[in-house]
Amino acid sequence: MSDPQPAHHSIKVVDAFDLDDELRSLLKPGEMMRDAQGRRHRLPRYFYEIPDHEAAVSIRLSPHFGLNEFVLVDLKEAPRLQQFPRYVPCAVRVLAFYLEQFRRDIGASVHIAVNGAYRSPSHKLSQTATPHMWATAADVYRIGTTILRGKESIEKYNGIAEDLSDDIHVLPYGHVTGLNADDHVHIDLGYITVIPREISEDRMEVPQENRPRFAFEERRRRERRNGAANEEPEK
Ligand SMILES: [Zn+2]
Repeated sequence: MSDPQPAHHSIKVVDAFDLDDELRSLLKPGEMMRDAQGRRHRLPRYFYEIPDHEAAVSIRLSPHFGLNEFVLVDLKEAPRLQQFPRYVPCAVRVLAFYLEQFRRDIGASVHIAVNGAYRSPSHKLSQTATPHMWATAADVYRIGTTILRGKESIEKYNGIAEDLSDDIHVLPYGHVTGLNADDHVHIDLGYITVIPREISEDRMEVPQENRPRFAFEERRRRERRNGAANEEPEK
């Protein structure tokens, strides 16, 4: 049996403790951070490494969500984290799974905003811990062709999201915590960290050897093996 899977259909997983000093200082793997309520949460340590733009647009995390949709940021993100290779916590694929169910129940495309998914701890909007720093939250300003504005539409979509699973948390219309506004749907799964099965955890939190340690998470689903050739990505 030969392995027909091209290399770019595996996603490289890195332990952020093995990254260079600048990246470690920006991603802060394993550091504790307080949320707006003063509760402490440990920042993620294992990240997908996105080698280049081509990989960002070609790798799909679910049938309708590409990896690139979760790393859209502007100048509020640290400049080094806007350069390839880029890094996103492995829990992003759990978020993609739930957004896929959300999209199915709505029956329309779900558009994640710029700065609306993964934001590093060094992002200017990262004042206190939020699930965005775990890549387990998404801000949605547009569904299908509808720009979300007003209590009615936001509460409608919040309700659909909440009905999906008890894992899902939404921010109510009119919340004014921090920099959030009342013009979008915020969906989050809490502070989920994912340790890919290919990773061995028998390591101290400092590099112990000179060689880089990483793993490739195999993409298992048919549509991932075959790429998205049969299905146009949502715009
Ligand atoms: Zn949000």
